[in-house]
Amino acid sequence: MSIGLYIHVPFCIRKCLYCDFISYPLSQQQVAEYLQGLELEIELYRETLGVKNRSIESIFVGGGTPTSLMSGQLISILERLDRSFSIAKDAEITTEANPGTVSLTYLKELRAAGFNRLSLGVQSTHQELLTILGRIHDFSQAREAVSQARQAGFNNINLDLIFGLPCQSLSQWQQTLTDVVALEPEHISCYGLQLEEGTPLTCSIEQGKLPACSEEDDLAMFQLAIEFLRTMGYEHYEISNFARPGYCCQHNLLYWHNKEYLGFGPGAHSHYDHSRWSNIENIDNYVSLLKTGQHPVAEKTSLTVKEQMEETVFLGLRMLKGLKMIDFEKRFGLSIYKIYAREIAHLEQLGLVKSEDGYLKLTEKGLPIANQVFAEFV
Ligand code: SF4
Repeated sequence: MSIGLYIHVPFCIRKCLYCDFISYPLSQQQVAEYLQGLELEIELYRETLGVKNRSIESIFVGGGTPTSLMSGQLISILERLDRSFSIAKDAEITTEANPGTVSLTYLKELRAAGFNRLSLGVQSTHQELLTILGRIHDFSQAREAVSQARQAGFNNINLDLIFGLPCQSLSQWQQTLTDVVALEPEHISCYGLQLEEGTPLTCSIEQGKLPACSEEDDLAMFQLAIEFLRTMGYEHYEISNFARPGYCCQHNLLYWHNKEYLGFGPGAHSHYDHSRWSNIENIDNYVSLLKTGQHPVAEKTSLTVKEQMEETVFLGLRMLKGLKMIDFEKRFGLSIYKIYAREIAHLEQLGLVKSEDGYLKLTEKGLPIANQVFAEFV
């Protein structure tokens, strides 16, 4: 059975004001250490987990800002994976990129090395909102990056957007969606802003320096994105994701189908052989452990069958098409209605889920409160 790989590149040019991802200021000395650690980790997994003959169906390089590395450094990661694993010929190979960190030459080099999908963090097309977020780029750089990516040969581009920002109006959000659709990306992700504890943006809101987006506006923006992007020919295939036909993100589909993947790098998560684990976040400790031949794991959980069932249900329900009930039955040997009869009946009664053509799926009413629906199964 095929699996996916995730590589975490924990460096950024500057920390965004809303960010609590694992990222460090770019330092070439630390990058060199990180690359050495990554190489050791890849080799360690290859030897100990018996994955060398498993086909790799997708690779996702995320961060951080992978494109804060020099092109040769980023390419060396892909080359290392290629030497260690059996990457399928048609594998989807994505790198995230910050529009302020790429050039035509850089993108041409990535494309020639085998990257075939680019995910650009655009977030907004309004400068005042990008400033509130502390992003290093402006929209003209994002537009330029898309144009350069096309010239470099990328025909599968995702643009990430965030809504529910302080001071963001519904008409600004509509304008952002319109501006972004005009760039004709194959895929658009729309995430509601998460106010993470301790970030400068959250502190500004807590101190009353910036207004939080109201729940009503947040919901209105989500619904606007769904309606507008559907009208523009994008399939709404997952709560936050929209794609032109044939361009759903294969790597993320692997997560939502609850398949196996290995994550490399500080803080990366893995799901393999009925276990989930996360790597330690501190980059120096991550490298030190690997240098002494140890797995840099912070936490590991062996999943019970009950936990595997729960995950399969709530991850599957994230997809608009829903969870294919026969797949659940094949995987666990029991009908989903046998395991979750009470929960499903309750949610159906509330109009939050429904079964259709062999799939259990969220209704339009259930979609905006998906987390409450998922909680029923845990
Ligand atoms: S570019 Fe992404 S990972 Fe880096 S600081 Fe900004 S939000 Fe965080």
